[in-house]
Amino acid sequence: MSTDETDEAGATDAVTTHPADVFAPVAEETRVEILRAFADEQRRIGEAFADADQASAEDLIPGFTFTELFERVDVEDSGRFNYHLDKLTGQYVTKLDEETYAPTWAGVEVAGAVLAGGYGDHEIERTEIDRSCPSCGSGLAVQYDDGYLIVSCTESDDPVLLAGVPAGVFEGRSLADAVDVAAAHQRRLQEAVTDGYCPLCYGDVTASLAPSTTEGVVSDAAYQFRGVCDRCGNVFLGGLASLLFRHPAVVGFYHDHGEDPRDAYTDAFDPVGEGDEITTVVSESPPQVVVEFELDDETLAVTVDEDATVVDTERRPT
Ligand SMILES: [Zn+2]
Ligand SMILES: [Zn+2]
Repeated sequence: MSTDETDEAGATDAVTTHPADVFAPVAEETRVEILRAFADEQRRIGEAFADADQASAEDLIPGFTFTELFERVDVEDSGRFNYHLDKLTGQYVTKLDEETYAPTWAGVEVAGAVLAGGYGDHEIERTEIDRSCPSCGSGLAVQYDDGYLIVSCTESDDPVLLAGVPAGVFEGRSLADAVDVAAAHQRRLQEAVTDGYCPLCYGDVTASLAPSTTEGVVSDAAYQFRGVCDRCGNVFLGGLASLLFRHPAVVGFYHDHGEDPRDAYTDAFDPVGEGDEITTVVSESPPQVVVEFELDDETLAVTVDEDATVVDTERRPT
């Protein structure tokens, strides 16, 4: 996806976004319960399907008749229940046929968000975890507040990961495992951004190389990846290695040396990435850098231009 193509044929000028209309239908207990009933049914289907030899696509849809749904929701009066179901129908619930109600994708997402838990009602005080700092090998400590998870080095206090995650990330997991999930989630967000769209609002993202002077982010590299959402204005920063680790030239290089780049950036969940790579500035105006990955006796040099696009790759003996 390129941000230069906003005028291409077929582009939609405006989505019918009336914020109050988006959330109003679900801002009510009975309606959340209805969506939860579908989510519970989905979980039952999932558990059954995990052991099933096969299932048709229809078997995987959590569908209920009016009566079935009414029985699963804690409301006495069917008229009252019907009123709330009606409010959800269209945007969050759809009718598959005369009888059967099922969630729309928006309904599935809201139910998922309910399971993921809130962002503001959970707090974790700074706690050391069983992971080592990708920069210096010392320990790591984690804290969580206002929906932000911060992992920092116990030696230097520098943050190595800052991720916005819901409280559900911690449920049923050790703190260290929760941090791994948060780091993986952060990579997913980065992938969306490097693919050119915003993981929060789905707007287009304009990518560029940015000088590494941003406070609170550890980096020895002169430049990092910067993505700015054209719609919501959120700014996404990341190391160039994290930008490049999905590039076919990098993946192929790691694979040929018997390594998996996903592991390289899983263990070192450093958002700015200073692992096997070295960044050299070729030009400052406009910025262009070469990121060199070194494995065994070979070097892969990847040239990245001002738009954070790979313009050249070259392999040579080290
Ligand atoms: Zn450290
Ligand atoms: Zn956005």
